[in-house]
Amino acid sequence: MKKPKKSIDYALRSQEMAKAGNKQPKRPKHVPLRTCIACHETKPKRELLRVVRTPDGHVMLDPTGKKSGRGAYLCARLSCWENALKKKRLEQEFEVTLSEEDRAGLDAFIATLPRDEPVQPPEKAQKVPSGRKKTTS
Ligand SMILES: [Zn+2]
Repeated sequence: MKKPKKSIDYALRSQEMAKAGNKQPKRPKHVPLRTCIACHETKPKRELLRVVRTPDGHVMLDPTGKKSGRGAYLCARLSCWENALKKKRLEQEFEVTLSEEDRAGLDAFIATLPRDEPVQPPEKAQKVPSGRKKTTS
C-alpha cells in the first residue's frame, strides 16, 4: 500500500484525457463538389447525376457513379438534361458523337425525370373582358 496516490493521478489523467477527447472540433465533412455541365451550378456530387463515357466510347448514365471512364455531371433536373442534349454539351464534354443507341438510352432515362420547373402556361387569360360587351341590339 505504498502508492495510493498513483491511482488518483491516473484517474485524474484519464479524466483529462476524456475531456480532451470531447473537445474534438466538429469539422464539417468534406463534400466533393461537381459542376453541372448544363447550368454550371456547383453542387455536392451526390446531388448530381453522373454520365460516363466508357472506355469503349459509349455514353451512358452511371447511377452508381463508379463506372470507369470519363465522367460528366448533371443536375437531376429535366431542364438541364434537355439543355445538355440540345446544345450537345455531353458530346462536347466527351468529344464523341452520341450514337443513336446511347442517345436512346439517355432519352429513356430523361423521360423518367420529374418536370420540376412547371412550364409557364402559354397565356394566363390576361385579357379579361372589361365588363361590358359591346353588342348592340
Ligand atoms: Zn444543372
